[in-house]
Amino acid sequence: MAEFSPMMQHYLATKKQYNDCILFYRLGDFYEMFFDDAITVSKELELTLTGKDCGQEERAPMCGVPFHAAETYINRLVSNGHKVAICEQMEDPKLAKGIVKREVIKVVTPGTNLNAQALDETKNNYLFCIYYQGDVIGVSICDFSTGDYFVTELKSENELIDEINKFVPSEIIVNEYFAMSGIDLTAVNEKLNISMSTLENWYFDEDSSIKKLLSHFKISALDGLGVKDYPTGIIAAGALLTYLYETQKSDMSHIITLTPYTTGKYMLIDSSSRRNLELVETLREKQKRGSLIWVLDKTKTAMGARALRSMIEQPLINKDEIINRQNVVEELCNNQIDREELREYMNPIYDLERLMTKISCKSANPRDLIAFRNSLEMLPYIKQIIGNFKSDLFKKYHEDMDDLRDIYNLILSAIVEEPPISMREGGMIKDGFSAEADELRRAKTEGKEWLAQLEERERNNTGIKNLKVKYNKVFGYYLEVTNSFKSMVPDSWVRKQTLTNSERYTTDELKHLEDVILGAEDKLNSLEYDLFSQVREHIATQVVRIQSTAKAIAMIDVFASLSVVAMQNNYVKPKINEKGVIDIKGGRHPVVEKMMNNDMFIANDTYLDNASDRVSIITGPNMAGKSTYMRQTALIVLLAQTGSFVPADSANICIVDRIFTRVGASDDLASGQSTFMVEMTEVANILRNATPKSLLILDEIGRGTSTFDGLSIAWAVVEHIANTKLLGAKTLFATHYHELTELEGTLDGVNNYCIAVKEKGDDIVFLRKIIKGGADKSYGIQVAKLAGVPDVVIERAKELVTELSDADISQKAKDIAQYSQKLDKLNKEYRKVDELEVKQMSLFDTVSDNDIVADIKNLDIGHMTPIDALNTLYKLQEKI
Ligand code: ADP
Repeated sequence: MAEFSPMMQHYLATKKQYNDCILFYRLGDFYEMFFDDAITVSKELELTLTGKDCGQEERAPMCGVPFHAAETYINRLVSNGHKVAICEQMEDPKLAKGIVKREVIKVVTPGTNLNAQALDETKNNYLFCIYYQGDVIGVSICDFSTGDYFVTELKSENELIDEINKFVPSEIIVNEYFAMSGIDLTAVNEKLNISMSTLENWYFDEDSSIKKLLSHFKISALDGLGVKDYPTGIIAAGALLTYLYETQKSDMSHIITLTPYTTGKYMLIDSSSRRNLELVETLREKQKRGSLIWVLDKTKTAMGARALRSMIEQPLINKDEIINRQNVVEELCNNQIDREELREYMNPIYDLERLMTKISCKSANPRDLIAFRNSLEMLPYIKQIIGNFKSDLFKKYHEDMDDLRDIYNLILSAIVEEPPISMREGGMIKDGFSAEADELRRAKTEGKEWLAQLEERERNNTGIKNLKVKYNKVFGYYLEVTNSFKSMVPDSWVRKQTLTNSERYTTDELKHLEDVILGAEDKLNSLEYDLFSQVREHIATQVVRIQSTAKAIAMIDVFASLSVVAMQNNYVKPKINEKGVIDIKGGRHPVVEKMMNNDMFIANDTYLDNASDRVSIITGPNMAGKSTYMRQTALIVLLAQTGSFVPADSANICIVDRIFTRVGASDDLASGQSTFMVEMTEVANILRNATPKSLLILDEIGRGTSTFDGLSIAWAVVEHIANTKLLGAKTLFATHYHELTELEGTLDGVNNYCIAVKEKGDDIVFLRKIIKGGADKSYGIQVAKLAGVPDVVIERAKELVTELSDADISQKAKDIAQYSQKLDKLNKEYRKVDELEVKQMSLFDTVSDNDIVADIKNLDIGHMTPIDALNTLYKLQEKI
């Protein structure tokens, strides 16, 4: 077989090193891809597939993109889950001896992409590293674009999936042993569009991990980071950092600390509850409008928007921390003028965190620095206002904030107001910033004046009226003479170029001037580049001050936003109790009330506690407002625990450790599970993981199967939840099974509520008010009529209802007969046992003193529902 060409050999060797990446191989003005990469990319990006001679008989499949447009293509591939390795020319091809030296300068991956087009500024872009080690799972998470870097340890698959759902990373990296864990992340990865890859074992070597962390943070022991309680987490953190170094190959000084956290610090919200409660996007359209964050986000900065999002995704469970946050919101509500001034000052603040990352990674251009400077302009005013506030958190933010005047002044003095994007062509450094640059600039301008003088002088000397000094890139400066004046050119001039209508000349003097001017220009351009790099590097060394300021700004922005929302929408500050009571008066659904006219939303109360009001069974027709009511309760509790005010007249909220919701039919059909299976899996998850301190929102449990099965499951679930020995969690339980209302009075802590409707002739009017007691009818046909089902169908349905009700009754009668037979059999058993059986004497007579028999005797079997009968049997059996 023929040898591959030298370039192709280098390509193949590089590709081998970056086997899991698509290799963008720089050839002149293009990045080219070959072989399988070319085939994949040409399909995904709809590029033409061509071929290149590679020394073999067949040409290598090839496709390419122009280097100046590469970013868009890279972003598309990365957002499709690929990793892209960029192999650059490391020397000027014109000067290269032999084949041009090329090296991979960066690997772009979904979790490390810094390109602004690819990132949503209101969302963090997390890389999530899992180190599976058996009992303990080490986890480290980093947003490379902001420098946030966390470590923790988890114990189970469920906890891991919850964390993934909380952070919604764009990329997960795992150790090889993870494959043996039996944990399957396929479903969650597909749902959240996460790309996952396995790293070789050496990434997770304990010693190297620790060394990597020590050298990155320039410390001698890990104690200072406060991470010693996370030995497994540290290995994940080390592996993640190694991965960043391997892929980015750049400075990462913007990652200034590793923050340990325990999952126990936050309220646990499992993945389906996150979706059901529509915290950051709606369930169906997956859009922000209609989600909780859509109502809450009045932030002014990208950093604030991200911080708000992560606060909503991680409500607190510590009372003091919640109250600290409430105090800030309250202070801002009480000082509206200051708040509005603060918000005004925050308007021009760009994404300091991401700009800082660009500065550290040396990818910030002069315009980025101007944006950075504009962002710093108002800091002294912000700091001054913050200084007036009293609450603890404000004091902390005041301390954390630096007005960064030195950096502001540095950029102000160094960079011109409207610099070019390119850093190589000068024009970005201000006059007066560097004496040397000023000198060169003077030489350049004076040189131009000298040229004008030379032109004037030579025109007079020679008498060539239209003589001009001109410039082009290839020939430099020259004197241009049109053909009609050619004869007047002095002998001393040297001809440079002949054109159809003119000749171009140079002179010794012009050559000398050219050297001075062009030399000055070249020198100035490279000096400007150096000066710009120095300014950028100096800012990079100030990363700690800048990041802590950025964080403080983000939080102030969040609280100002919460305060604005609270005031605009009439929210109140909830009391926080530790007595297990949720007492909401006049509660509203924060999103539904905004989607409709404020006045039309009917407020409702909620009361739940640890004693006689643990479980509310909520009945009422479809569309009455059951789901809205239940979700509003969950959202009010969640808002309270993030420190926000809540949509209610008053609220006293106990801290709940978890919120679980099981709402409506999930759209998981795509994953191959039936709706009922999904429903039951969620119920199983809730019953296994809820605690007495959890809040459960259960809507229509058991709907996905036959009525009897469904009812039985719903019934059993309520029994389980209500029983304090088994669970005893606070629960709102909406159901169509009116039979469940019979549990009130039978089961401790269970109460009936319904959403009131008014009958108006044949129609119903929804009153939207929750009241005590069970609903007596389901009004299905009226709701169908409201929905616009044609009259003929409605009329037919009415007929059927009557027929079916009769049929239903006969079915019930059959059931009851069946149960009576069972009771009969039971009686006979008793009779056998009784030695004193007397002929002609009824069983009831012989054992008239027996309680059980008396009970059976008193039964009104004719009016019993099947469930009644079952229950009675159950109770009888218990007495034996
Ligand atoms: P259900 O769960 O009983 O079928 P929903 O909670 O889905 O009913 O409510 C149906 C619609 O009724 C909602 O989309 C909303 O527009 C309206 N609605 C619900 N609750 C209220 C309320 N408290 N005030 C005003 N409108 C409401």
